[in-house]
Parts: sequence; C-alpha cells; structure tokens
Amino acid sequence: MEFQEAARVRTLPPYLFARIERLIKEKRAAGMDVISLGIGDPDRPTPDHIVAAMEKAVHKPEYHRYPSSEGRREFRLAASAWMRERFGVEPDPDTEVVALIGSKEGIAHLPWCYLDPGDTALVPDPAYPVYAGGTLLTGGVPYYLPLTSENGFLPDLAAVPPDVAGRARLLFLNYPNNPTGAVAGREFFESAVAFAREYGILICHDAAYSEIGYDGYRAPSILEVPGAADVAVEIHSLSKTFNMTGWRIGWAAGNQGAVGALSRLKSNIDSGAFGAVQEAAIAALTGPREAVAESNRIYQARRDLLVDGLNGLGLKVNPPLAAIYLWAGVPRGQTSASFAELVLERAGVVVTPGTGYGPQGEGWFRISLTTPTDRIREALERLAAMGPVA
Ligand SMILES: *Cc1c(COP(=O)(O)O)cnc(C)c1O
Repeated sequence: MEFQEAARVRTLPPYLFARIERLIKEKRAAGMDVISLGIGDPDRPTPDHIVAAMEKAVHKPEYHRYPSSEGRREFRLAASAWMRERFGVEPDPDTEVVALIGSKEGIAHLPWCYLDPGDTALVPDPAYPVYAGGTLLTGGVPYYLPLTSENGFLPDLAAVPPDVAGRARLLFLNYPNNPTGAVAGREFFESAVAFAREYGILICHDAAYSEIGYDGYRAPSILEVPGAADVAVEIHSLSKTFNMTGWRIGWAAGNQGAVGALSRLKSNIDSGAFGAVQEAAIAALTGPREAVAESNRIYQARRDLLVDGLNGLGLKVNPPLAAIYLWAGVPRGQTSASFAELVLERAGVVVTPGTGYGPQGEGWFRISLTTPTDRIREALERLAAMGPVA
C-alpha cells in the first residue's frame, strides 16, 4: 500500500547532507577515491577522559531506566556553571536550562512551541537548514534575512519591514556562523536584543561553535547582553567542541518561558538523553580544557593551509576567525552547483554548494576543516592539477 504523506512531509526538502552522502557513495562505488571536504563532523575522536566517564557510567543501573526529558539536575548544574565560568552568565539550572538530545533536536522543536500555522519566523539566508526546516514543519512561514559579504554576514534587522517584524514570533541567529564562518560582536547582539524587545520576538541563538575560535578569538554569548534572557534562548552543543557529534547531547538556556515550553513539548515526545551520556557530558564540561585548545590549533593550521592553497589557485578566501568552515566564492562563470559537480567529477573532492544553505548561497561554496590534514593537502594538490576552472 502507498500512504499519502502529510503535506508537511511531502513539501520537506531532502536534508542537504543526505543528498551529498548519496553522491559520495555513488562515486566510491564506481571506484573513485573521494575526499570529502563537505560535512562539518569532527574527524578526531572524543577525548579519552570523556569516553572513560561514559565507560564507568554505563554500568550504573540507575541509567538503565528512563531518564527525564528535561535532563538530570547534575547535568543542568554543570551546564549553568560552565556558562558562568565561560560567559559570566548564570542561568538557573532548574528553570532556565533544559537538556537536548543534540542541539538540532531543540532547534527543530522550538518552532512547535511558538509558531501556529501561518506564523512568521525570521530566518537567515544562508543558514543551517534546520531553522527553515523546523519552521516549515510547524506550518510556519520563514521570512529570509540575507547574509551577504557586504553586511559581514550579519542580518540587517533595521531593514526588516515593520509589518513583518510586527508579526514575527521567532528570530534565528547563529554566531560563530555556519556556513559563512562570520562572527558577531557584543554590539550586534545588543541591537538584536533591542529589536526583539521592540517587536516581541523570541530570539533563538544557536551557539554550536562558541568554543571554536582562532587567532585568540573568543565568541560572546547573547546572554551577556543585560536583559537578554527576557527575549532570548541560547542553544549549546557538545558536538563540535568535544568531538561528540555521535553522542547527541546539548542544552538550551535563557528565557524561562521558552525553556519551560520546550521542556513541556519534549516531555510529550522524548524521554531525555541517556543518563550515562549526560554524565560523560558533565565530564566534558568540568574536565581539562587542553583537548579543546588542541582542536582549535589543528583547525587553525588546516584553515591556513586551505586559505593559502585556495588563494594560490586564484580562489579568493578570507580566513574565518571561528567555526570550522571556509566560505568561498566560486570561479567566474560557475554556479555553486556546477562548481561542486566539477570538482567532484574532475578531482574527486567534495565541497558543499552554497545554495544548500539558501538562495543567497548562490555563487559560494563551503569547505569544512574536519578532514585529516594529509587528505586536505591531497585535495589541494588535486584541485591544482585540475588547471584553470574559470
Ligand atoms: C553542527 C551544528 C549544530 C549541532 O548539532 P548537534 O545536534 O548538537 O550535533 C547546531 N547548529 C549548527 C549551526 C551546526 O552547524
């Protein structure tokens, strides 16, 4: 039997990386040695002390029973204490922090708490696809905010028509930014908080890359802005910071209403993250910082290698201060899709076409720094061997 899918599923675009994975599989099956610079998934293992904490915790019978969907109190305490030490903010672990089964889970569920069908959410373009996807699943309507090199990849909130701002319920932000590598300063967050306050909009700030910075850069939290918790919830993830994408753990912190609504919604959908994973996450948040510093050194060296290599090929790339991506313009005469296809066919190298992150991504491609350095070197050699592509 074929069952008619609900409109919300029928109209869902295929998840960007699912398509790329299929393409890579096809090429590999055809015998090509494909180097993927596409997906932002740390290549290095989770630090040993975190794995060791998991090994111990997995034996505890208390974790073999249902966890609670809002997360263990010890985990919420550790998240709050980490935010105090890192940003000087101190969300109440009982009312202003909720555990997430990976931050993607929280980002996709938040729109269910605030959007009725037809409601507007302000979504950057280009962006992590889950902001628009989560909005569309609820029947909400994304209003796209263009991120361009001219505006430093920060949305121009003053340019949002007042009638749109007036009916918008949510504003998604993400700094350090995927895919552009852009960073936002304290002043931008202050203006975003003022904008949200003026129009009664809840800000969802995705801080997945807050700990990955170069040349001494340290990202701020939006919650550092006085009064920000009146209008903002910030989403944190252990995935990129601690090489833990497979473990599925993160948290939301800030606005009490939003944290409460998300907890209520989640209690109807999931039963929380595995207790042992939460204990491993506590070990990550309270343990030695050296592993994170080492990751940053490795990513920074890869960034420099790639920026030099690509600039040498005539592709203009600015070195990002944070996150794990290079956002680069395609050669003249190419589109994002045609360029991605060309380098896959001719060099066996996967880059992500900018259009996968929204229409404003046309003319751009993204390279991730999460590929082993020797493979990055080989990818650059193959690109150089392709000769002129413009
Ligand atoms: C990788 C990423 C996430 C993290 O996802 P998890 O679900 O925590 O693994 C969230 N936001 C952005 C922008 C990302 O790139």
